[in-house]
Formats: sequence, structure tokens, C-alpha cells
Amino acid sequence: MLQIGDCRIVSVLEQEFEPRVDFLFPELNLASLAAEQSWLEPSHLDFPSGVVRLAIQSFIVKVDGLTIVVDTGIGEEKPRHRPEWHQRKNTGFLDSLGEHGDAPERVDLVVCTHIHVDHVGWNTRWMDGSWQPTFPNARYLIPLIERDHMRAQAEPPSYYADSVATLPEGMVDWVQPHHEICPGLTLVPLPGHSPGMVGLRIERDGKKAMLCSDALHSPFQLRLPEVSSSLCSDAGLARTTRHALLSECIAEDMLLVPAHLREHAAIRVHRDGHVFQPEFVDFVG
Ligand SMILES: [Zn+2]
Repeated sequence: MLQIGDCRIVSVLEQEFEPRVDFLFPELNLASLAAEQSWLEPSHLDFPSGVVRLAIQSFIVKVDGLTIVVDTGIGEEKPRHRPEWHQRKNTGFLDSLGEHGDAPERVDLVVCTHIHVDHVGWNTRWMDGSWQPTFPNARYLIPLIERDHMRAQAEPPSYYADSVATLPEGMVDWVQPHHEICPGLTLVPLPGHSPGMVGLRIERDGKKAMLCSDALHSPFQLRLPEVSSSLCSDAGLARTTRHALLSECIAEDMLLVPAHLREHAAIRVHRDGHVFQPEFVDFVG
């Protein structure tokens, strides 16, 4: 658990994901990170095999009697282009969610930080011959900009069709930037990785954290914040957003909780001369 004032956050790991560096970060020359190898290995990068080590996970946030699931991973029984995501079955993810937080029926809010394949999967599951909401009593908070971006495409991707468009319209709040969930919890715009991506900013009892989604995929981006992923819709804007976010973390003593951070709960950002320096914070209990 990670505690931010009276707000409690746990991670439910769905999958360890290890894409190739030359796929996810084609501009990255691993040799430029040689001086960082000792702390990036083995949790975040593997230099000999050239893979990035990421986690696909959901966060359960509990505050003010609310149970909030932030991002819903890959899901099950869905047709996907990657073999490790295609038609997954019997993964036990919902059991883990129940052990760490609450049964799906008791979830109050589901936040999708953006509409990408690894953030919306468990929004729905296949039951009785159709896609049904996995969290039947929840309201789903999804950025309006993300939906409009999907709707503007001639052929939206399959994950939009089976995991977002199939949600009953009455269960979804298409949220505007700076949407306040409850006192101290706000969805703030972090555009660049996708047009309408948001982070969940938490400020409770004077403590602060930002669940920053994919504004930062891997801790090496503290040393090389100019490197955006190949999956970013606007690499330049993603870079600008990341720089501003890292500076904000220092200025406001705010913990950074990236969606795909492996092994650790969060990063406390420091400045070391002209570069950013991570201090990892672990889950406790
Ligand atoms: Zn992602």
C-alpha cells in the first residue's frame, strides 16, 4: 500500500510486459544510459537483451469511503494484435482485485486515464453473449477529448469498440479537464502520449501524489526526459508535459506514480545538477 495522507493506493498487477527498446523507444541509444545501468537493471531495463521492463497494472484508490479503480489493463477474451494480450483467459485478475481491494460490484468509480489498449481492457467482460460492464455499480470516468479523438477516426481500434463503446452510455461520465472527483482528487490534463490523457492528482492532509499514467513509461526518462515513446500521438507535446511534470514534482514535493512502473510504488523526484534523479518509494504492508 502507498498512503498519501488518508488516501490509500494499492496496485493490482495484471502482467509483466517487456517490449523491445527499439520498438517502444526507437530514438533511445542504450549506450547513452551506460552510466545508469546499475540502478536501471534488473527492474526497468535489460541492456543485453534490449528490452524495457514494465508492469501492466490497475491502481485501487480508497478515500472518503470511495473505491476507485484507475486504469483497467488488458482484460480477457479480447481479440488483440499482440499474442500476449490476445484472448487471455482465466488470468485471476478479478480475484486479485478482490483480495487487494473490493469485488467488482463494490467499485464506485473507474477512471480510464486515456483510451489505449492497456488501460481500458477490464472495463468490460464477455458474459451471456455480449460485452458487459465488469464493474456494474460504478460510474466510468473517461476523458471527453479521448472519446472524441476515437470517434473522429474512420475505423476506431477494436479496443475502443469492445471496451469503451459497449459501455452503457448512462454509466459513463465523459469528463472535462480538471474534473474534481472529491476534495483533493482531480483529473488533470497530461496531453502528448494521447490527446486527452489525464493524471489523477491527489492532495490529502498536505501530502501529494500524481498517478501520471503514461506521461513517463520508464524511470530512465528522468535522465533522458526528451525521449518519448513510439506510441505517443504527439512526441513533442509528450516531452513538454513530462518536463513540466517532473519540475512540478520537485517544486511541490509530489510523488510520481507512473502507470507502468515495475517493482516500486512511486518515484520521488530530485534534481542533481541539471538532471532529474529518482528515489524509489515502495509499497508497504
Ligand atoms: Zn500504457
